[in-house]
Amino acid sequence: MQYYSTKRQVPPVSLGEAILKGLPDDNGLFMPEQLPPLPAEFIDKLPHLSLEEAALGFAETLLKEDLPADVLRDMVHKTLGFDAPVVWLAPHTGILELFHGPTLAFKDFGARFMAQAMSYFLPKGDKPLHILVATSGDTGSAVAHGFLGIPDITVAVLYPKGKVSNFQERQFATLGQNITAIEIDGTFDDCQALVKQAFLDEELNKHFRLSSANSINISRLIPQAFYYVYAYAQAARQYGNQPVYFVVPSGNFGNLTAGMFARQMGLPIAGFVAATNANDIVPKYLQRGEYMPRPSVATISNAMDVGNPSNFARLADMFPTWGEMKKHLYGYAFSDEATRAAMQEVKQKYNYVIDPHGAVGYLAWEQFRKEHAPENAVGIVLETAHPAKFGEVVESVLGEAPAIPERLRHLMEMPKLSIPLSKDYASFKSFLMRHYPN
Ligand SMILES: *Cc1c(COP(=O)(O)O)cnc(C)c1O
Repeated sequence: MQYYSTKRQVPPVSLGEAILKGLPDDNGLFMPEQLPPLPAEFIDKLPHLSLEEAALGFAETLLKEDLPADVLRDMVHKTLGFDAPVVWLAPHTGILELFHGPTLAFKDFGARFMAQAMSYFLPKGDKPLHILVATSGDTGSAVAHGFLGIPDITVAVLYPKGKVSNFQERQFATLGQNITAIEIDGTFDDCQALVKQAFLDEELNKHFRLSSANSINISRLIPQAFYYVYAYAQAARQYGNQPVYFVVPSGNFGNLTAGMFARQMGLPIAGFVAATNANDIVPKYLQRGEYMPRPSVATISNAMDVGNPSNFARLADMFPTWGEMKKHLYGYAFSDEATRAAMQEVKQKYNYVIDPHGAVGYLAWEQFRKEHAPENAVGIVLETAHPAKFGEVVESVLGEAPAIPERLRHLMEMPKLSIPLSKDYASFKSFLMRHYPN
């Protein structure tokens, strides 16, 4: 299957090319030319499938023309190896725990699959591939871990100084080997701008084979559909065919876009609810029909502090008019104050510790349920990260720090290996030229 650019100013490319390039030359985003229907028998038997089986059925439907069956099976297997359970907080309210991977956030799904796919498609014996990734926290650690030790691929993680938690920083800034952490004196948007400018820089592109690893890369998006399929399966097991809504705490909207792919392919999802913090560009768009990006503001759910969500271009490609998009998507935004109160409520009512991002989702589900949901609606709120990833916030709100899972505790003792840089493009570029020999 071919992958086209949302700007349609360059010809479509193969899956391998789309993955290795990351961004098309016209600065649009790659989209699959078709979202083929999931076989009816597959949907029927879903309630009986494991995560890996559900994921493979989805992946085969979308990718079978582009990857041999045994390669795809192996990639799916290597991506997973941890669970994505729905925990029923209360009847009809499920929390989809996406934090059982190695870096405790949903981005592990995308990053691990992407590492497998890039390594598969990278021409052997050619120039190495340099991945540049801007992160507001979780992307960096997931990508760094996904690619750690993969031959002929390096990763540079750009992150805003002082704006990611200590624990998050340790997850990508202590690894060494083929991973370089760059601490930018600026915001997440500055980091993203540096990466974007590097991709458009002809001289750099002559010198290096560059790629991105943000949620803009199509190979990160596709595996994020796996857990929608599996969560739907779990809801169907519990509630038969009652309408299922997914509530997605959103920043760059990659996660939500992946869910939309699954729905367009026939997964019977009743609708989506986008949940944001004060960075409410998409909820505002849904309200008013005007898309007005603006600089991001800092919140306690900082992985969603995005002022110009990159995947909006994909959503707008699937639903080109305001009216079309509103049929499939609701949106709500919440303040930090409301988020804190929700974290307390979830703890008190259900004895469940939810992280600030999940709490924004919980609030959106509560509001959507009051305003729009049918009586028998089943809501699945994506818990996008483990509360320990945001331990400082969780402790200040709940009075108790969530325990860091055993397997990650040693990180706190490891030395930080970051390189500090200003947000100035020229110094970033000259660093790249010095740091990577080719
Ligand atoms: C990345 C991230 C989000 C936002 O996901 P998008 O795909 O960018 O919308 C939400 N929560 C957490 C914890 C994240 O790491």
